[in-house]
Amino acid sequence: MRKAAATRPKTAKASAVQASGQCVCGAVKLEIDVPARWAWHDHAAASRLAQGCAYVTYVGSYRSRLRVVEGGGSLSRFEDIEAGTTRSFCARCGTPVLYERTRSPTMVNIPRALFTERTGREPRYHMSLQDAPDWAYSGADLAPLKGYPGVMWERPRRKPRRKPDDWSDVV
Ligand SMILES: [Zn+2]
Repeated sequence: MRKAAATRPKTAKASAVQASGQCVCGAVKLEIDVPARWAWHDHAAASRLAQGCAYVTYVGSYRSRLRVVEGGGSLSRFEDIEAGTTRSFCARCGTPVLYERTRSPTMVNIPRALFTERTGREPRYHMSLQDAPDWAYSGADLAPLKGYPGVMWERPRRKPRRKPDDWSDVV
């Protein structure tokens, strides 16, 4: 006896679940089919400049699973031919929306922060970590800053005392 699932026609339909996102002014709205292909942290210098933050967390989606639902005409594009990248942002509010790389023509990357819903992928991968700036927060212990409710700070590290000539008590 055949299972019912085996008799269903295979069609290239959108998945039943979507994650929706938008720019800060709301002119551009988009959605992707969930689960996304993958999610990653991009520490590259170019992404840092383009986004104005220490690193960007992207959700990578197949282009065929992305739909710009509203405001496609509001997207401006910056193409870096030498780097082989195109970055699209909302011309009204400046929010970065799409990051495309010519070496991955079937994929499009969208900042994870634009989505309110889960995208079906945890960002477990780090790219271009060698470009990470020394001021980026990397999970060091934090403590409340006295007198400033809600402010946490990273205590300066104590430099280890050096004994340049006499290591006899160490070795
Ligand atoms: Zn906008």
